[in-house]
Amino acid sequence: MTARPRSDTLRDLLPRVYRRLYDSYGPQGWWPGESRFEIIVGAILTQSTAWVNVEKALASLRAAECWSFYAIASLPQDELALVIRSSGYYNAKARKLQAFAHHVIENYGGDLDRMFDSDAGRLRTELLSIHGIGEETADDILVYAAEMPSFVMDTYTRRIVDRLGIVPSGRNPGYGAYQALFQDNLPADAPLFNEFHALLDHHAKYTCTKRAPLCGGCCLADLCPTAEQGVRN
Ligand code: SF4
Repeated sequence: MTARPRSDTLRDLLPRVYRRLYDSYGPQGWWPGESRFEIIVGAILTQSTAWVNVEKALASLRAAECWSFYAIASLPQDELALVIRSSGYYNAKARKLQAFAHHVIENYGGDLDRMFDSDAGRLRTELLSIHGIGEETADDILVYAAEMPSFVMDTYTRRIVDRLGIVPSGRNPGYGAYQALFQDNLPADAPLFNEFHALLDHHAKYTCTKRAPLCGGCCLADLCPTAEQGVRN
């Protein structure tokens, strides 16, 4: 695979990738959720789980009238786990949901407006201090619930970055190095980060799949060294 330098080239490449994806797939309308509460709960429940299972757990929470941070915090943890069991790892996720709920209630009286009255860096640090909130979940909450510019870097996005031959800095690049590719080379624009991440996920699910990507019909093929060289599984 040909390595692309991380420089002005990326400042040119990333907007082209975005435009190609947007023109191919259109607006994605992320995140699927009607409120910030629902987005946050979904972001926690989707860890290591397909979205279809998250939807079932969200429906169960609604049916159980457990649809606020106060309701989540007041339910016994084993009962909450049973309500969300379709999401997998339900005992751990019940603990995470309650940790988040207690944090919002104890520090902000349950008011997300007060919690989000911060800058992205400070809020990200705070989110990462809450039990069960890792970098991807924190960035989901930042961009989709708080509408702040923090690029979400999931395995789908990393796969496309790797196949496009974009090389993060560092010997063993982690989440932050991949995220910096986008944040250092795009304007800090929450709606752009929202849409770009959603488009990358769509592309990874339906075209740039893990095995046998559909390079022949890919809108990025002429930008992608992997299209010529093929994917080694
Ligand atoms: S050309 Fe193939 S490998 Fe490259 S982004 Fe498109 S589907 Fe993925």
